[in-house]
Order: sequence, then C-alpha cells, then structure tokens
Amino acid sequence: MSPDLHVIDRSEPGVSIADAIRLLSERYGPFDRAPRLEPAHEVVFTILSQHTSDTNSSRAFRRLMDRFGTLEAVAQGDVAEIEDAIIPGGLARVKAPRIKQVLSQMLELNGSLDLSFLREMPLDEAKAWLRQLPGIGPKSAGIVLCFALGMPAMAIDTHIYRVCKRLDLIGPKVTADKAHDILEAAVEPEQVFLFHLSFITHGRRVCRAQRPHCGECVVAGGCPSRDQFVAREGAAGPAASFGANGHAASPSQPPHSLPAEGHAP
Ligand code: SF4
Repeated sequence: MSPDLHVIDRSEPGVSIADAIRLLSERYGPFDRAPRLEPAHEVVFTILSQHTSDTNSSRAFRRLMDRFGTLEAVAQGDVAEIEDAIIPGGLARVKAPRIKQVLSQMLELNGSLDLSFLREMPLDEAKAWLRQLPGIGPKSAGIVLCFALGMPAMAIDTHIYRVCKRLDLIGPKVTADKAHDILEAAVEPEQVFLFHLSFITHGRRVCRAQRPHCGECVVAGGCPSRDQFVAREGAAGPAASFGANGHAASPSQPPHSLPAEGHAP
C-alpha cells in the first residue's frame, strides 16, 4: 500500500459509503469514462457475460459481430449460427435464442436498435424499459444505463455485493436485487460510476471472495469484517479460505456467492 494513501482511523465504528468511494477511487483510479459500447451492443454483451469471464464474453462478442456485421443481422439470423459464433462465451445454447429474442423485442418495441432515447427518460422508467426484455435483470440494466448511456444506475455484481456486505454497507440478509435499490439511494448520482469501478476493482484485487488481502486494504480501518478475517487466517494457517460473507467456505461453495440475476440464464 502506498504511504500517501489516506487510511480510515481505526477508532471509527465503520466506513461511510462516501469515504469508501473516495479511498478506493484514490487507490484504483482514475477510471476511463468513455462509453464502451452502444447501448444495444451493451445489452447483448451483458447477456454474453452472464456466468463467464470478461475474456470469454469479449471473444464471443467479437465473433458474433465478425460473423453477422450488425445487430440487425443478428436479429434476423439463424439461432444455430448465433450459437456457433458465441461458443467461447459458454451456455451458447441458452444465450443464442435469448440474444435473438432480446433484439427482436427491442425492434418490436422501438422500431430500431438505437436506444439513445433511454437517456431522456427518468432513471426508473429507463430501467423498467430494459427490464421488460428477457434476460435483463437489475444488474444488466444498470450496466447498460451507466456504461453505455452515462446514467447514474447501480449495477451490483458479485464483487461489489461481497465488498458491501463485508463493509456492512448492506445488511447480511439483503439480496443482490434489493442491494441495487439500497445502494442507488445511498450513493450520490455523480458518484455511481466511481462507486461501481472502485468497488469492483477492490473486490477483484484485494477483497477477494477467498482469503481477502486485508493487510493491503485502504478501507481496513473502517471494515467490521477485518478482525474476523485476520483472526481466522491466523488460526487456520495459510490454507484457510473464506466465503463471500465472511464465513468459512465449505468445500463445495463456489468462490462467488452472489445468486444469478432473476432473469439470468
Ligand atoms: S479489510 Fe478485508 S474484508 Fe474488509 S474490505 Fe478490506 S479486504 Fe475486504
């Protein structure tokens, strides 16, 4: 950890969400705010990214666009051909018909795949429009609105969900879907983008599902889970592992415990 980083005073009972965003952004930022994809492309990408790595979903997306050229062509395409193109993304048999269905429904509802009109809508209405599409839950809708359209929508993935629970920013029984509403109300709109990228980076690099690196953590001073992890690590030795909520992981427990989105395949 760099010595010039601010670390929360250990005497504080917990870390505020604003302080956590500031400290984690200082640690991992600055972040590139340029939109990654057009909104409709982002919708397809979120479907491809369900239950697989960024690398696999990126490869599947590239192959899909190389094969078809445009999303309009994908919408008209043969499901078997879509499935063949997206094989690197996994679950191709589920994702291929879903992609075709989503694109067809967007065309039916909007007459085109230009979703820029969502930017003019109130946030709740824009979310509701996207969530009527098959396979698009709160996380996917949040990603499209935040990253393709620059709107202050929450997208809570497994890493963000885990970090927020460990920092006690959400209660232990709060579901991932509910966490979207709670955190969206708690984070200033202009901070949502920073919140997402700083928390997800922290979850991937330091506050990992198994064996979080609490000794390298810039919010450790305000983390109510820290002592528990440090004590367990000390008691169990270097082979100890921990579940996403701070409990010792059972051998069959996956490293990421966030349930899939309600509409995810
Ligand atoms: S102190 Fe440990 S458990 Fe708490 S946020 Fe940091 S890495 Fe995660």
